[in-house]
Amino acid sequence: MSIASNVQLLPEVEAFLNRNSLASYVGGKAFPAASGATIATIDPGSGNKLAEIHDLDASEVDRAVDIANDAFPAWAALPVDQRSKILLQLADAVEKHKAIIGQIEALDAGKIEAQAQGDVQNFVDTLRYFVGLSQQVNPRTKLDVPGHDAWTYKQPWGACAFIFPWNFPFLLIGWGISPALAAGNTVVIKPAEDTSLSAIYLAELATQVGVPDGVINVVTGRGATAGAALSNNKKIKRMSFTGSPEVGQMVGESCGRNLVPVKLELGGKGAAVVFDDVDVKATAEALVGAITFHAGQVCCDATRWLIHENIYDEFEGYCVDLMKDIRIGHPLDPNSQMGPVVNPKQRERVLGYLEKGQAQGAKCLVGGGAATVDGFQGNYIQPALLSGSLDNTAAREEIFGPVAYLTKFSGEAEAIGMVNDTEYGLANSVWTKDKDRANRVAESMTAGNSWINAHNVFAQGVPYGGVNKSGMGGGVLSVETLMDYYRSTSVVRPLG
Ligand code: NAD
Repeated sequence: MSIASNVQLLPEVEAFLNRNSLASYVGGKAFPAASGATIATIDPGSGNKLAEIHDLDASEVDRAVDIANDAFPAWAALPVDQRSKILLQLADAVEKHKAIIGQIEALDAGKIEAQAQGDVQNFVDTLRYFVGLSQQVNPRTKLDVPGHDAWTYKQPWGACAFIFPWNFPFLLIGWGISPALAAGNTVVIKPAEDTSLSAIYLAELATQVGVPDGVINVVTGRGATAGAALSNNKKIKRMSFTGSPEVGQMVGESCGRNLVPVKLELGGKGAAVVFDDVDVKATAEALVGAITFHAGQVCCDATRWLIHENIYDEFEGYCVDLMKDIRIGHPLDPNSQMGPVVNPKQRERVLGYLEKGQAQGAKCLVGGGAATVDGFQGNYIQPALLSGSLDNTAAREEIFGPVAYLTKFSGEAEAIGMVNDTEYGLANSVWTKDKDRANRVAESMTAGNSWINAHNVFAQGVPYGGVNKSGMGGGVLSVETLMDYYRSTSVVRPLG
């Protein structure tokens, strides 16, 4: 496989990509589309084809759900220690293959290779976290009911469905399926059509380390067919969707019709509130680092930067200099700081918002166009900084690219009002040395997550989720998430 002369592929990655086509994986084996239909998956950094994935139709997705439901009773019946042992073997195997999976992910999603490896480690840590928690769950809880013997009994649901986006394909699979598997459910994963490779690799690896057939299934294909079939399937016991609010609404409608419990993890338009007592340079570095991380394709990013008027000019100056210096390049080039966006459509979307924003009066302080990288025809964009009124479309809608919107404020209440003037509610941050003010503002911002003097901090055990247009259904990554994957039966016996 030829990507470019300065990009070296691991032999295992070459071998994986050199197969004629990469089928879905269901019931412990390759699960090709009967029609033979495939979708090309492209390296966003070079525009070259990496492989073909199979484009399943609705009946094939339905069959995968049946296979997952068939595998459920035996998986659920395993004592928790035995199930844990198998899942920990999977965690170990993924960790051992980190370089391979990381490179596949970097190529498929256009993610800087070191960051992709970090995502793989995050998967491993998440799986180990939920396996550990599941060993603490007591399935029976005695209830204190006078004159009765009463208890609740927790058990897994069955086949759980997951639909994922393209920005953090492998990490999000870990966040999604780990609690479900640890609780004893089987899973059907529908990855995004642009980034299905790491999911297929995972499912194959799972079989190699002894995960029973049908416990982890991957169905590839288009959202409107394979994704819609999964969310419309009446035999799935739970649905978890991560992606855009528009598709999330459709998935929510289908699940509502079928009375299937659903989790929706959706988009965001987060803010960072920067007070005038901060280290201005360090804060500018942190926020520029956050908005250029994975080319700004991060749902919880701070995209509206609200800066106290006393430090606004100084802050703007640092940000402009920092953004000019970002080294844009192919994700496998170790010198690259920022890679491409995932596909040409996404690049057009980002450039379109830059145009619309300026047409509505925003000033472009730096960047604002396509970027070129020598030797590569990828979807590269210059990181950009807009400034102006928050009524602007570019300040109100999710752009999902390396674009931040700068504006100034003079008082705390005004800043909180600006943060909360949005349909979204995923994640915000406040930056100040004043602890009381930081705590007050953090608790006043309407969202699932607030950070203080940091942005994008994730730790297993800290719940992560959104409100309003950013999501519903309880979020991910915490003890509560594990409990979502058990259903509860109460049992009551009158005494005497
Ligand atoms: P998307 O909604 O276009 O696609 C997500 C998934 O849904 C893909 O697998 C796609 O194939 C599938 N899909 C598309 N149409 C479907 C349909 N009709 N029925 C069922 N499934 C369908 O989102 P995207 O462009 O892949 O991802 C970007 C979005 O994801 C952004 O809005 C981002 O903020 C959000 N996101 C949120 C989180 C979070 O945790 N809150 C995390 C990552 C990304």
